[in-house]
Amino acid sequence: MKIFISADIEGTAGITDWNEAFKDKPEYAEFREYMTDELVAACEGAKAAGAEEILVKDAHSTARNLILSRLPSYVSIVRGWSGHPDLMMFGIDDSFDAALYTGYHNKAGSDTNPLAHTLTGRVSRLLINGEVASEFTLNALCAARYGVPSVFLSGDMGMCAEAEAFVPGIATVATSEGFGPATKSLSPAAAVEEIRDGVEAALTGGVAGGLPQQTQEWELRVEFTNPVEAYKGSWYPGMEHPEPRVLEFRATDFFEIQRAIRFVVLS
Ligand SMILES: [Zn+2]
Repeated sequence: MKIFISADIEGTAGITDWNEAFKDKPEYAEFREYMTDELVAACEGAKAAGAEEILVKDAHSTARNLILSRLPSYVSIVRGWSGHPDLMMFGIDDSFDAALYTGYHNKAGSDTNPLAHTLTGRVSRLLINGEVASEFTLNALCAARYGVPSVFLSGDMGMCAEAEAFVPGIATVATSEGFGPATKSLSPAAAVEEIRDGVEAALTGGVAGGLPQQTQEWELRVEFTNPVEAYKGSWYPGMEHPEPRVLEFRATDFFEIQRAIRFVVLS
């Protein structure tokens, strides 16, 4: 069994403030440890369920957060941003049996995590086919392009509920709950235990479900906080600019939606 894991930090147990998420802040060192602990727990759960190979994508900010000396020997890792539109899923292909997600956070426009956002703080809301999307929405659809099911996610409680609604059969571990700028969360030790056990259970006895609903028509709508961002992105081929803060794009292939996001939201 071959497993892909995308690891973020803003849904790690305990994390509450942006100062805990960025490399140049003193508080980051502690939370980088918890991010690594949760990722390693997911790897151990997968190994216990029979995984032979695990590829991890460090998917937060610089994409150079996970503490490498902690990674088990059966794990490989993708660090940095290649520029490929698979972004937080870069490295996945059709040879993987399942995709897992650790440290995931709810979307821009939600109030279940003080650090809720979608790809960048410049996006007010990002919608796919009329529904407000999270990074997980995009990443589960990316995995599905390769036929890879999304079977486990750990992150804030709201993110877990949305993942369960979007992807049938996905298992989740809720690490925290947001109350405006505050959080109530599991202890890091409890989060690690639950993630390890949750991943092992999700992968034991074969993978069922895990694929979001597919369609032939995709519509992306990006609502920026500042109209200047929409103006800049409006020059992407085929992009529509119906309102000062809004860009819209249609495609029949989800990869074209991913490519548009890569150049319009992340440049
Ligand atoms: Zn992040």
